[in-house]
Formats: sequence, C-alpha cells, structure tokens
Amino acid sequence: MTLHAAYDPDNIFAKILRGDMPSVKVFEDDVALAFMDVFPQTEGHTLVIPKGVQSRNFLDMPADFLGSYMLRVQRVAKAVEWGLKPDGLRVMQFNGAAAGQTVYHLHFHILPIWEGKEMGRHGAGTMAKPEELAPLAEKIRAAI
Ligand code: AMP
Repeated sequence: MTLHAAYDPDNIFAKILRGDMPSVKVFEDDVALAFMDVFPQTEGHTLVIPKGVQSRNFLDMPADFLGSYMLRVQRVAKAVEWGLKPDGLRVMQFNGAAAGQTVYHLHFHILPIWEGKEMGRHGAGTMAKPEELAPLAEKIRAAI
C-alpha cells in the first residue's frame, strides 16, 4: 500500500532537499524547491516539491501549507511557459504506485508541450546529463 504509509526521510527528493543529492535547480524559497526532472518526458520537464513538510502525496499534505505551495507550483509553471515558449503545458501529479507515483515526496510535474512533438513515457526515459538540463533551467530561472 503506497497511498498511505509512513514518510521515508531517505527518499530521493528528501535527499535533494538536504543537499545530499545533486539537482539542477530552477527556483527555491522557504516553501518550495523546483528542479529539472532527470528523466524528462519533454524538454523542460520540471518538478516542484514542498519544503518543511513530510508529505508523501497530495492527500496527506497539511491544508495549512497547501495554498502557499500551490502558488509556487503556478509560479514555476508560468516561468516554464515564459522561458521555453511551448504550445501547451501539462501539470501532472500522481498518488500511489497504482497511479504511477515512484518517488514518495509530494511533487507536481510541469511539462511543456510542443505541437507535433511526442511526449516520453512516464518513468521510462533516458537520464539527461546536467549540462543538457542547465540551459533549460537557466531560461526558466530567468522567467521567474
Ligand atoms: P513520480 O513517478 O510521479 O513519483 O515522479 C517522480 C519523478 O522524479 C519522475 O519523473 C522521475 O523521472 C523523477 N526523478 C527521479 N529521480 C530524480 C532525481 N534524482 N532528480 C530529478 N528527478 C528525478
């Protein structure tokens, strides 16, 4: 049962938050951290995670923290749009393994979409190199 379980403080995103694992960051304040997905489904695939909470998913996010976190999700989504100029934008979020979740710290995916460009499958992409992600992160950062 992955939908309701204890928060694992050693999940990948907790390690990124602690600085124990590297990430290509695009935004950070006291509420949220946004960084490039290393298995991008589209060019510019960005993740936004909350700070200061031990939430595995959307369902167990404390209500008091939700509003401020969602404002950051929207802010990063707007920056992805302004920075990369896609034709559309997908905002996705999975809860539990059955729904496709693989990392158990709440996160929203922001996926820029270009007409005619295929989107990769979730959890099946090739690992991007930091030097490929850095210029995309720079464009998004510049638009925040
Ligand atoms: P989900 O399957 O919704 O839990 O999404 C987890 C996402 O985290 C996937 O899109 C992965 O590609 C991504 N991911 C896994 N490990 C890392 C990492 N070390 N840095 C950045 N993104 C990661």
